[in-house]
This record gives sequence, structure tokens and C-alpha cells, in this order.
Amino acid sequence: MAARLLDGKSLAAQVRSEVKESVVRLARRGIVPGLAVILVGDDAASRVYVRNKTRACEETGVRSLQIDLPASVSQDALLRRIAEINADPALHGILVQLPLPSHIDAWEVMRVVAPEKDVDGFHLRNLGALVAGAPGFVPCTPAGIMRLLRHAEVPLAGRRAVIVGRSGTVGKPLALLLLQADATVTVCHSRTVDLARETLQADILVAAAGRPKLVSAGMVKPGACVVDVGINRLPDGSLAGDVDFHRVNDVAGWLTPVPGGVGPMTIAMLLENCIRAAST
Ligand code: NAD
Repeated sequence: MAARLLDGKSLAAQVRSEVKESVVRLARRGIVPGLAVILVGDDAASRVYVRNKTRACEETGVRSLQIDLPASVSQDALLRRIAEINADPALHGILVQLPLPSHIDAWEVMRVVAPEKDVDGFHLRNLGALVAGAPGFVPCTPAGIMRLLRHAEVPLAGRRAVIVGRSGTVGKPLALLLLQADATVTVCHSRTVDLARETLQADILVAAAGRPKLVSAGMVKPGACVVDVGINRLPDGSLAGDVDFHRVNDVAGWLTPVPGGVGPMTIAMLLENCIRAAST
């Protein structure tokens, strides 16, 4: 039997329509939510992600200001630009598209973004709040995954969750959110000795490694919920996730497609964070 599809595209459309309503409510108070999106250099994938985010802003009535800086920009110049946006009351959110060129210290950049404008949730204050279980901005991709799981009523409490990937933007924050939801969480990574042994334990399996088709059907426990975070560009130009979708579809109980799963939810959570930043 085929897995139930976790349709991020349709849930994200629902979130976007709620965002539009919030934009109208804010307009009555004379507020237009504004997001500054900083893109450093001309990485092709980053450009596509930024375009998708600014389009989603336009469609929902969130004003977006895209700031393109050359790859050669100095760290000081970038930090000064961020300080200007911090001081601009018309811009409620700041997003610095990652990755940054190697001469720039990404943590220093995140440190300078005002925590109350940190709609990506990468400032150490927001990450600290996540560890403590305190209010703060939650990184968009993990937040979007949790929303998808909750919407589909996937049981989490007491279940085993296995995350493949330990990045600071996806794997680690997601592990904290799943812990908060009372799952028993294992985080795997490139040095995990027997990946299949771990993934086969998972009631909820999240693949966030950036390796096309890393998760095969033989690595999935029958009936498990499989979330594919990966976005991989194949040599023929097509997109693939980290999960062998067609084969895993016969084993899993729930499955996210790529595209149309986690990606749209990431953008939807960004918009929600912008509304929250503009509302306070
Ligand atoms: P990253 O490169 O920072 O981290 C990858 C992680 O995977 C690392 O912890 C690494 O140890 C682990 N890993 C790599 N190969 C492995 C293997 N063979 N076995 C086990 N673990 C392995 O990547 P990231 O930024 O977390 O992104 C991961 C993927 O998710 C990428 O494809 C990225 O494009 C995608 N992504 C998608 C969204 C979205 O909105 N859908 C958002 C962020 C990232």
C-alpha cells in the first residue's frame, strides 16, 4: 500500500492565506511587515531560494527588500549593512541567505542580527531559547517539519525519531523540537557506523543529509513516517530528495514528496515569523 502523502504544498498554501489575513489586520494598525533579504555572492541555488522567498512575500503582502552584495564584500561592510537594517523600523525581519563566502564568519553575522528581527531563528539567543524550551524564533525548516507532522496527526510522544544530519539549521534544532514533543530522538551523521541499523528503529525518520537517495526502502521500518528534507540537483538538472521516493513509498506509512513537501513549509514558516516580528 502506498504511503500517505505529507503534502507541504497544500498546507503551506493554507498558512500563506492566514498570513495574508494577518497582513490585512496589521494594515489596520498602519503596519506593513517588511523583510530584508541579504544575498552575498551569486551562488545559483541560493539565488533560487531567495527568489522563492521574495515571491512568497510579494504574494502575501509582506514587503521584501532584497540586498545583493558581491562575494568580495568585507565582513565589516556586511555587518554595517545589517546594523542599518536593525535600526530601520520599516524592516521587521532580516534573513541572511546561507552559505556565506568563506572569508565571512557566519556566526558573527548571526550575532549581529537583532534577535527580535531574526526570522530565521539562527541568532544564539533564539537557539538558546530553543534549547531551554523558552519562546523565540524557531528555525524555519524544523518548524515547518513539526507543523507538517502535527497537521497529519503523526504520533510523536513516546515514538522513536531518527534524524539523518546534524546541521545547526536543520538536524540539531529539529532534534530539540522532537524532544519537546516527547519523542525519543537519535541524531545520525556522516560518522554514524551503521546508518541502516539506526534508521530501521525509526517511527519517524527525517533525512537531512543532502545525499540523493541515501535512504532506501531497506532502511525504513514498515509504516514509519519518512520526512525528506534533501534538495539535491542531479546532473540532468532534475531535483531529488535524500529518500528513494518510489521504493520507500511502498514501505512507509507517511512520506513527504520533493518538491512539494518540506520546502514550501520552510517558506511558510518564514512568513509566519515575519508577521510575528511585525506584530510585536
Ligand atoms: P549540511 O551539509 O549542513 O549537513 C548535512 C548533514 O548530513 C551533516 O550533519 C552530515 O554529517 C550528514 N551526512 C552527510 N552525509 C551523510 C551520510 N552519508 N550518512 C549520514 N549522515 C550524513 O546540510 P543541511 O544544510 O542540513 O541540508 C541538508 C539537506 O537539506 C540539503 O540537501 C539541503 O539542500 C536541504 N535543505 C532543505 C531545506 C528545505 O527547505 N527543504 C532547508 C534546508 C536544507
